[in-house]
Amino acid sequence: MTPTAPSISHKGLAEVVARMDKALKEAGRKPGDARLIAVSKTFGIDSIIPVIEAGQRIFGENRVQEAKSKFPELRERYPDIQLHIIGPLQTNKVKEAVALADAIHTVDRPKLAAELAREIQKQGRHPQLFVQVNTGAEPQKAGVLPEETDAFLESCRKEHGLNIIGLMCIPPVDEEPALHFALLEKIAKRNGLTELSMGMSGDFETAIAFGATYVRVGSAIFGHRDYPA
Ligand SMILES: *Cc1c(COP(=O)(O)O)cnc(C)c1O
Repeated sequence: MTPTAPSISHKGLAEVVARMDKALKEAGRKPGDARLIAVSKTFGIDSIIPVIEAGQRIFGENRVQEAKSKFPELRERYPDIQLHIIGPLQTNKVKEAVALADAIHTVDRPKLAAELAREIQKQGRHPQLFVQVNTGAEPQKAGVLPEETDAFLESCRKEHGLNIIGLMCIPPVDEEPALHFALLEKIAKRNGLTELSMGMSGDFETAIAFGATYVRVGSAIFGHRDYPA
């Protein structure tokens, strides 16, 4: 993918990119070792276009319906943008998700894995896949429990033939995120996975220190969300 020369700058984006570069450097990692997913949920096309014009190419949405209302139109104008689905995925949305997404971060149960395998085969589209791990074992949160992750990954590969490339987590709000990032890194490593989707506006520098290869940043780029996603 050839980067398009940014024609304008975007304050929020520029600040996040600079903070990422600094965090990578401090962690002894190379620039570009962690990629930025600009999380555009709740924001309209008018807010997203300036971020694209400033050079950002990877976007994240947590709802398939919302992504569908924005990204086909954006892609007509900017064919090289990528869409990552980062929110919980219902099986009845898998067809649309596979058709739309370049990556899905939230594979977390056998029924979803089976449905994804079916649609990938049917459509011949291969979005990158991540397994979401519920590192804090929070009952209300999506994701596989840490102690069940190895077996789930095995079944994704062997039973469903899915090519999982990494793990994703959202740490509990009231806990030290570093512990969760370290746990995710450990589980990925022992399963031979290289991609780690972790870190949001409040903790992406910590995530980079713990090896994040994708950070998912919304409000630090786009500003405060007026309504919950
Ligand atoms: C909304 C969201 C983000 C971004 O959150 P910010 O705090 O606005 O950076 C990251 N990951 C997921 C899964 C989200 O739903």
